[in-house]
Amino acid sequence: MFIDSARIHIKAGKGGNGAVAFHREKYVPSGGPDGGDGGRGGSVIFVADDNLSTLMDFRYKKKYAASNGEDGAGKRCAGKKGEDLIIRVPRGTLIKSAENGYLIKDISGDEPFVAARGGKGGWGNQHFATPTRQTPRFAKAGLPGEEFDVQLELKLLADVGLVGFPNVGKSTLLSVISAARPKIANYHFTTLTPNLGVVYVGEGASFVAADIPGIIEGASEGAGLGFEFLRHIDRCRLLLHLVDVSGSEGRDPVDDFHKIQAELARYSTLSSRPQIVVANKADVDESRWASLAAAAHDAGFPVMKISAATGEGVKELVSEVWNTLASLPPVTVYEPEDIPVELPAGISREGFTVTRNDRGDFVVEGAGLAHLVESTNFSDYESLSHMQKILRDVGVFDRLEADGVREGDTVILYDLEFEYIK
Ligand code: GDP
Ligand code: MG
Repeated sequence: MFIDSARIHIKAGKGGNGAVAFHREKYVPSGGPDGGDGGRGGSVIFVADDNLSTLMDFRYKKKYAASNGEDGAGKRCAGKKGEDLIIRVPRGTLIKSAENGYLIKDISGDEPFVAARGGKGGWGNQHFATPTRQTPRFAKAGLPGEEFDVQLELKLLADVGLVGFPNVGKSTLLSVISAARPKIANYHFTTLTPNLGVVYVGEGASFVAADIPGIIEGASEGAGLGFEFLRHIDRCRLLLHLVDVSGSEGRDPVDDFHKIQAELARYSTLSSRPQIVVANKADVDESRWASLAAAAHDAGFPVMKISAATGEGVKELVSEVWNTLASLPPVTVYEPEDIPVELPAGISREGFTVTRNDRGDFVVEGAGLAHLVESTNFSDYESLSHMQKILRDVGVFDRLEADGVREGDTVILYDLEFEYIK
């Protein structure tokens, strides 16, 4: 079965605890505090992998956790950083919030995406020595890593999508023009998973084509397997609409052509997609070529005659596709959505000021923020992340960044004093 969506739980590692330790050395009566810091928890990171084309693996494994940071130890030894967890997904996978469906990231590019960040390690007691408190017996606990459910959804990335009824020769054509080896057989729905193939046109020139399972009547309303797969061609820049011009399945090519057009038209985003109509199986019988060509022309599409079996017209088709692509916009990459949060009463966006005190600390003040700090339970992860979310939405972090805050700077928000972490 083809799996193109899955819900998983991702969990970044907890930061290691800071250590409470005291320096011991021969002949030194009482050493100072030397407890090292905990290591940062590992993050959960997504990367695109071109060798994958389904989300199958995620059906079996649902929980993904990065390792925790190790605790600090004596002699100022910092704990080891937790290992990141890399999750490989097919290119074109959308990561959505399972809670509200908002798009977090479209994994279409090559750069890794940190979806859940590891918690920061706690400070060891070496940091807490002051002139009046030489032997601190406390250290900070590490912070929890981010964790939440995400919905993964695959929307393949291909320049060209092959569409048409089952058995018209889509898989055959893909196997002829690329190195992809999709299953080819003379029965319906042999293609149950989309196949991607890279088509080399010349030196440094190539495009990606996707063969998806056949569309049938009613596909846009959810009949058969069709509808699920229409989504995969949603991002294609160009469609190759294959028609069996020989009518070898006992259907009429012109009728087939209109039926598929109707299905595409019902799937809103595809109705205006550029198309080339491809009359395949011309080696068998091309007596209906003229009427199909006329229908395609009437609909405003270029039409070409080929035989995927003998190779006739295939070269010309590939170069026509290449030329057409040159004039089309690139594949759509979706932008993450801003997830709106409801701000508590009294707090408004940008309704705060940031100033510097004489120690250079950043002081944030604004209506409702004192209350927000008071009502936050700092030992509770949910409560803490809720507060952070609000501060982010109000624009506090953006402003701090604009004002030149650096990692480790102190930020003061009423009773809360924290170290800024990027
Ligand atoms: P798909 O369902 O659209 O992917 O169709 P397939 O590529 O699996 O092909 C269905 C059948 O048609 C197979 O038996 C192919 O060998 C055959 N076929 C595909 N293209 C041609 C062609 O150009 N000429 C002939 N004679 N047969 C073809
Ligand atoms: Mg096929």
